[in-house]
This record gives sequence, C-alpha cells and structure tokens, in this order.
Amino acid sequence: MRIATLSIGDELISGEVVDTNAGRIATLLLEQGLRVRRHVTVGDDEAAIIDALNDLAPKCDALIVTGGLGPTVDDVTALAAAHATGRELLVNEEAGKHVRAFLAARGRFAGEPPSDKQAMIPAHSSLIPNPNGTACGFRLSHHGCLVFFLPGVPAEMDAMVRETVLPVLVEQVEERRYVLCSFLNVFGLSEPETDTLLHGVTDLCPGLQMSVCVTFPWVRVTLRAEAETEGAARACLAEGTALVGQRLGEYVFSEGEVSLDEAVAALFRQQGLTLALAESCTGGLIAKRITDVGGSSAYFLEGVVTYSNAAKERLLGVPSALLMEKGAVSAEVAAAMASGVRSAANSDLGLAVTGIAGPEGGTPDKPVGTVYISLAGPGGCRTERFLFGGGRGEIRTLTAWTALDWLWRHLGDKAKP
Ligand code: ATP
Repeated sequence: MRIATLSIGDELISGEVVDTNAGRIATLLLEQGLRVRRHVTVGDDEAAIIDALNDLAPKCDALIVTGGLGPTVDDVTALAAAHATGRELLVNEEAGKHVRAFLAARGRFAGEPPSDKQAMIPAHSSLIPNPNGTACGFRLSHHGCLVFFLPGVPAEMDAMVRETVLPVLVEQVEERRYVLCSFLNVFGLSEPETDTLLHGVTDLCPGLQMSVCVTFPWVRVTLRAEAETEGAARACLAEGTALVGQRLGEYVFSEGEVSLDEAVAALFRQQGLTLALAESCTGGLIAKRITDVGGSSAYFLEGVVTYSNAAKERLLGVPSALLMEKGAVSAEVAAAMASGVRSAANSDLGLAVTGIAGPEGGTPDKPVGTVYISLAGPGGCRTERFLFGGGRGEIRTLTAWTALDWLWRHLGDKAKP
C-alpha cells in the first residue's frame, strides 16, 4: 500500500515547531507493517495545500494530513480540501454538536452554526471522531486515494490515528506483514565503531533491518523484524537482538526505553548498596541524574558540590598539601574526594569527579576537557583520567554519563555470579 503524510502549518515550515506528527504516524503505521513512502510539509496556505493534495493523491493509496483544522482564520485545510476535490464546504451537524458538547463540558461557549468554523466539512466526507479536542477529522476519496484529515495537535492526532485511521488501513491491506521493533542503548562506542561491530548482522537474520543512530552522547541501535506471521517476526527479532547484544557486549547498558540512570538505579536497588557523590566540574549534574529516578533516596545518601579548594578540604578532608602539590584537577585529588565523601557519608561507594570544563582554565598539561573520575569502595579506589572533546556543555554531559557508566559497570560486575 502506497502511503504518504502531509503536515500543514506555517510554524512547521518556519522551523518554530518540530514536526513530530510525521515521525509518530510513521512509527504507528510501521507497528502494523505499513510503511510511509513519502512525506511533504506545507504552510497554512490554501493554494499550497491544494497543490500538495493534487500532487500526492494520484500517487498514493492513502494520505494522512494533519494540521489546520482549528477555529482561527489561518486554519484553511478544510476549505482547501473542499476546493481541491470540487466539493462544497458544508455545516456538518454532527461535527457542530461535538464542538459544542466538548466546549460545554469544559464550561466554554461555542457560537451556533454556521459561525462555528470547526463544523464546516467538505460534502460527502466521513467524520473521524476526536475524543481529545474540538476539531473532528474527516475522510474522503480523491483520485482514488483515501485521504484522512486530522488536527495538528499531537495528542489529538495520535488517538485518531490509532482509533480510526489504522483500523481502516489495516482492513484494506491484502497481505498483512508483521513488524516488531527493539532498541539497544549503547554508551562508550561511537556510531562508526558500533556500525563496524555490527557488520553482517542483517545477513545472518533474514527479515531483519537495523539502524544505528547517535543521540549524544549515546548511540541507539534499532532492530526491526518483518515477517508474514507474528511468531516469525518475534523469532527473527529475538535472534537479531541476541546477536547484537553479543557483538556489542558490555557497551549495551539497556534495552527499550530504559535510561542509563534507570539502569543504574535498578542495580543499586538489587544490590542494596549506598552512594555518596563529590562533584566539581559537573556542579551537581550527576546528583540530579541519580535523583531523577524515583525511589533514589533508598541508596543515594548525599552529594556535595565542591568547587573551591577550601570546600574540598572542609567537606571532604582533602589534604591542603595534596591540593597544592598536585592541583585540584588530578588523580590524587579525585581519589581523595571519592574516599573523603565515602567516609563522611558512611556509604558503600563514593564517586568523585574533578575536571576542566572550559572554556578557560586549560594548560598544556591539563587542557580543557581533562577530567578525573574516581570510585571508592570497600576494596579500594579506582581513578582514571579522561580527555573529553566539545564545549563546556558537552564536557559536563560526557563526565556525568561516564561516571554513571562506571557505576553501572561496577554494580553490574558485582551482580555477575
Ligand atoms: P487546533 O484546533 O488546535 O487549531 P489544528 O488542526 O488547527 O488544531 P494546528 O493549529 O495546525 O492544528 O496546530 C495545533 C498545535 O499543534 C500547534 O501548537 C502546532 O504547533 C501543533 N502541531 C501542528 N502540527 C504539528 C506537527 N506536524 N508536529 C508537531 N506539532 C504540530
């Protein structure tokens, strides 16, 4: 089935609003084995909408249009649909009733038809119910193409695609294909490194498609299995996921929508260990990430942000002589910070970071991006130097991610038999 999407809105072509509808529709359709072949965006301009409809409809079996069904003068989609298809724009009683009932339920007033613009629908169209908003959608046939018109508001269009558009499309498909997806989340490998390690995986699993995508600073591997039966798609996906997991090994920190923060939290809960943090260059970013996860008070005892030498001495017990001799950004001071915060908090683990996030403060020996991370535990202290690239924001983000990755690896190793 040839399917296209058309997004309408001045804010979309000006770049003010990112078009999330197109991606969401493609994902929802793909879950049913339907693929969007083409996507077009135009502004709230009647002539441009008519052009797009007349161009796309003859080339497609189905077209899903979103946006421009609102009550304001710039919303011209229904008018353009009527003109493109040679229909009259008429007051639709059912749509009018829906607008009035929806607004009345929220204590608001709507003018009586025909002043009620959202009740104006091209003649000989079928209404598409909108459970979450005022504007009903509608569906009509144009050049043999089934055209669905939906509001632009993402939550409204989402429900309408799932509840009305998808069942109609699935019914039209002669040969149903099943598509299932899984995601593996990777940290510590670049996109090309990930790609190289995964070379040949799709050849080993017929029906499997794979894509590698950077979402700084991590990489997401998407696997998509397509087959004639759900069982075959499931088996193909399981085989592909296992193979990718083997190839990428310890770099895969989670599957699906589980973040690194949540993966770390799950291990802390599982192991019953506690944590204290001493942060310098990240200014509390790691503590924020740890406490973003609900229930973190069960294992996160405290965190301190120590920027000055005086604070490192007073709060963490870092010796003044060590700070003078090695400098605040050094392996020795990072280790003293980690051990210091662990003793002060009486926690199982103490994690510390100190570094130069820039843009100033770099030296030839310790350029901007130099970061030391140290993890202190009952068995001693492990400290490592890193040189991160990018600006201040990227360096701080990479430091927080690497520190969390350390925790994940440390706790994961302990969980191994
Ligand atoms: P409304 O009844 O709210 O006016 P509408 O059908 O006229 O609905 P628009 O006015 O085009 O829709 O957009 C409503 C809201 O939805 C706006 O905030 C707009 O930025 C957002 N929106 C519209 N289209 C998209 C899209 N393709 N992706 C993401 N957001 C969108």
